[in-house]
Amino acid sequence: MADRYLSFTGTAPGRFLTRRLGLPQPAALRRDALDGGLLHLTAGKTDLDLAPVLARTGLPRDEDGRPAAVVLDATGVRDVDALAEVHAALHPVVRSVAASGRVVVLGAPLDPADHHQAAVQQALEGFTRSLGKEIGRGRTVNLVRLTDAAPAESTLRFLLSPASAYVSGQVIEVGAAGGGAAPDDWALPLAGRTALVTGAARGIGAAVAETLAGQGAQVVVLDVPQAEEAARRAAERLGGTALALDITAADAGERIAAALPGGLDVLVHNAGITRDRRLVNMPADRWSSVLDVNLASVLRTTDALLAAGAVNRGGRIVATASIAGLAGNAGQTNYGASKAGIVGLVRSLAPRALAGHGVTVNAVAPGFIETRMTAAVPLFIREAGRRMNSLAQGGLPVDVAETTAWLAHPASGAVNGQVVRVCGQSLLGA
Ligand code: NAD
Repeated sequence: MADRYLSFTGTAPGRFLTRRLGLPQPAALRRDALDGGLLHLTAGKTDLDLAPVLARTGLPRDEDGRPAAVVLDATGVRDVDALAEVHAALHPVVRSVAASGRVVVLGAPLDPADHHQAAVQQALEGFTRSLGKEIGRGRTVNLVRLTDAAPAESTLRFLLSPASAYVSGQVIEVGAAGGGAAPDDWALPLAGRTALVTGAARGIGAAVAETLAGQGAQVVVLDVPQAEEAARRAAERLGGTALALDITAADAGERIAAALPGGLDVLVHNAGITRDRRLVNMPADRWSSVLDVNLASVLRTTDALLAAGAVNRGGRIVATASIAGLAGNAGQTNYGASKAGIVGLVRSLAPRALAGHGVTVNAVAPGFIETRMTAAVPLFIREAGRRMNSLAQGGLPVDVAETTAWLAHPASGAVNGQVVRVCGQSLLGA
């Protein structure tokens, strides 16, 4: 379902009319390239050696005062006085950041022994989220907490690229170690890796499979037997293979392991269903089918694959949550519960999976993404879903796919236990 409002506001009369009426002004997001250079600013005293990593992003240094990307290193901000340097650094430049530009604030982990440092580092979160809500023109603002630039390279490259077009208002923690090896070729980071995507015959899963294949992965397109034909066609197009399997089968994990004797490097739990009803009207079968597909099967197959050693060391597990699981949504007690369950799974398993198997576990939490699922939503609710975010538009499946690819990246080993919303900074679950 095309977003006609977005097309209309892209025309001169549309811009005039919507501005006069005080209506949302979505800007068409650049998903091809950022238009301008990089500006590197600091607030407080910093020890971070960022220059080499930033140089490798490929963005030229900003020369004309119209940066496409601004990186503010605020890792050294330890008190309220130093926090004023955040204002001093960004206040003069924020207006000139190019449309669809990026602002990335770098913060430090909160110091449990220093409540002044913790206060101002936490302040950066409120700052980032507020700036994200006001900056407009398709520009995004995110905060990365880190202690070392090297393990954060894949994260900085992602956030400073068009791939993160619909990721805004997020706080991402990057660990100090375990960044993983830099790929031989940053354009094909998944070369030689096998990736299985569940529910990949259509929608977001199909986009994830395509993006991972585009980055060099050998993909396995898993979907229910009824969707076998579509899965086979998608796999053929991507040079991968199809696996017709209902993920709720009790032995799904064992069957995946058997189908992939060389093991898996990337496991994307994307398959999901909705069976909406308010709790008062919800029969037990609608509850259990949603919990089974969206959560129980994710738990079962993850356990089986890890126990069988079928996820290779350096492997990446990416599960799919939803903003409905963070904010709650009327008519979706089953769906909201299942997606919140994914968040719990990720937070608990991530450190153990890394220690025991060398595997990271993260989640993407999509907001309003333009798919068949959301095209079926009644008009007014659909319009509200599209507009109620800082970018005033829905995201595309490719936005979720690119975020998944960043989490699946061989160099993203220091990103673990994170739940990253791909929601244009939705007001729901913010
Ligand atoms: P979709 O309905 O278009 O596609 C889901 C795919 O999963 C289908 O191909 C379906 O056949 C498959 N599937 C369903 N049950 C399965 C099972 N038991 N075993 C194997 N495959 C199964 O949905 P989508 O919009 O692409 O959503 C993908 C994921 O993203 C889901 O987990 C969904 O909850 C989540 N999500 C979507 C949105 C959105 O706006 N579209 C928002 C938040 C979260």
